[in-house]
Amino acid sequence: QNTIDKIAAGEVVERPASVVKELVENAIDAGATAITVEIKEGGIAFIRVTDNGGGIEKEQVPLAFLRHATSKIERVEDLLQISSLGFRGEALSSISAVSQMEVITKTGDALTGVRYVIEGGREKLFEEVGAPNGTTMLVRNLFFNTPARAKFLKTAMTEAGYVSGYMEQLALSHQDISFKYMVNGQTKLHTSGNSNLKDVIYGIYGRDITRELLPVSFERLGISIEGFIGKPVIARGNRNFENYYINGRYVKSKILMKAIEEAYKPYMMQHKYPFVCLHYEIQGEEIDVNVHPTKMEVRFQNQGAVYNATYDMITEALSKREM
Ligand code: ADP
Ligand code: MG
Repeated sequence: QNTIDKIAAGEVVERPASVVKELVENAIDAGATAITVEIKEGGIAFIRVTDNGGGIEKEQVPLAFLRHATSKIERVEDLLQISSLGFRGEALSSISAVSQMEVITKTGDALTGVRYVIEGGREKLFEEVGAPNGTTMLVRNLFFNTPARAKFLKTAMTEAGYVSGYMEQLALSHQDISFKYMVNGQTKLHTSGNSNLKDVIYGIYGRDITRELLPVSFERLGISIEGFIGKPVIARGNRNFENYYINGRYVKSKILMKAIEEAYKPYMMQHKYPFVCLHYEIQGEEIDVNVHPTKMEVRFQNQGAVYNATYDMITEALSKREM
């Protein structure tokens, strides 16, 4: 019980997927347009995230690894219009406390970059190096010094599965960023960053699914929805194919889930679920995200409006489709 409490307290670094999430979010915050994520042994042995973003200034590098070091405090409120999803200056300090970490970073106007090594929270090396603009974060041997936490990791295959799931959601929610994702040296996903959602869906789910998609676009009462929904022929045995994003963020919502499934109900067998990929733009005051960083549950001020918009949009698209 005590151990479980401690793990819950170490909220940002639960497993490799949460490390990847934090590092990638930092890369996105740094304005990266291309991000490469590589993992080995499910990310337990090796995680490398490379971005072409703004980089970290030389003197700022060691400071970025201190608890509550953040360069983003003024922006916390307006960040994607959803507040507090891990933007509290805790990620790098938490990750570096329980792994062997290395950073290579260079800003656009610096002549040289910096290589910084920190293991178990202890600084090991700080040197100037030649480097491209942007940042590479390397995390080795997660939980090497906290065996109690290492025990809660699943097999490398399962951990890799969590990372892969996250990478897919990421690619679907940020079509404007080029993602490359490699597992044990093999490329699993590569998106162009050309903003074409259908291309991303194709890259993840393959040609079969893209043939059965209906484009949707909807606007009502300050709620706008864009994306693709699967014809009812694409029925799945679980909800993993119900993807929705609010203001660019992957979230979970019982209301949306219900609206989607009710709209499909006349066309679906029981215990079958549709494919959808929907991007919502909703004004910030209308939504409330649970503050716990590992939860993605979202609440709406006006639940009825969001439910109806979703239900009506899908019902209309499905009733008009050619079979
Ligand atoms: P937060 O993201 O909440 O600010 P982090 O611990 O994740 O806290 O990161 C600390 C700081 O390190 C960030 O505020 C940012 O200034 C810097 N940083 C981290 N990763 C990157 C990156 N990939 N590119 C540029 N700056 C970064
Ligand atoms: Mg961060």
